Amino acid sequence: MAKANKKTKNRARTERRYQASSAGNWVTFAAGGISAAAMGGGTYAQLLRAADAAPIPAAPWLLAGGALGLAAAIWFGGSASAIRVGDGGIATERGDSLTRMPWYAVTSVALSGDALLAEGKDDKGAAFSLRLSRTKDANAAGRIVAEARMRVPSVVNLGDDTFGYDEQTGDLIQLEPLHLQGKHCSASDTVITFEADARLCPRCERVYHRAHVPEACACGAALNV
Ligand SMILES: [Zn+2]
Repeated sequence: MAKANKKTKNRARTERRYQASSAGNWVTFAAGGISAAAMGGGTYAQLLRAADAAPIPAAPWLLAGGALGLAAAIWFGGSASAIRVGDGGIATERGDSLTRMPWYAVTSVALSGDALLAEGKDDKGAAFSLRLSRTKDANAAGRIVAEARMRVPSVVNLGDDTFGYDEQTGDLIQLEPLHLQGKHCSASDTVITFEADARLCPRCERVYHRAHVPEACACGAALNV
């Protein structure tokens, strides 16, 4: 066990960064959730207030504002300025903030019209969805497909569709080692109290406690225990 684990523990983590095309991609962010909440609040105030209570003047506006905000979040909001793909999963940059979906949290990589759609959860458990133009962001989309097919093949629903891309594209970024203390083991739910007890799947970066490492990771990778 120790041999394989040392290898995975010390390996360098990297990813590639791509400027996103100014049009053709969007990311839905928490803004959508906030607008939806505003919409819910408006609906509640409008429909569920006590029958004899005075109408709440702001409610129709709150409802309309929420719906508009939600539409804006879907269609215009959150265009990512850059996309990252690599050992850490798929990440989007928006200003100074980075939102990351680890490979183990990817639930689907598929086509949506002429765009590549990657969906799942970010590393904090919030819904993550990235849509990339197949033509305008061909290299970023191609790398996502290639890495997803290698790392988490069961969630890729693209049949034999090929996504050609230039492997030399994207700025190479060195990633910090993951901090695993406090995370839960994917197999046993045991809390990782000591960093040295953590074992990482090199393909999807699922975390395991060293006493509970399965022969194969949930992504299908052999863990050589
Ligand atoms: Zn794995």
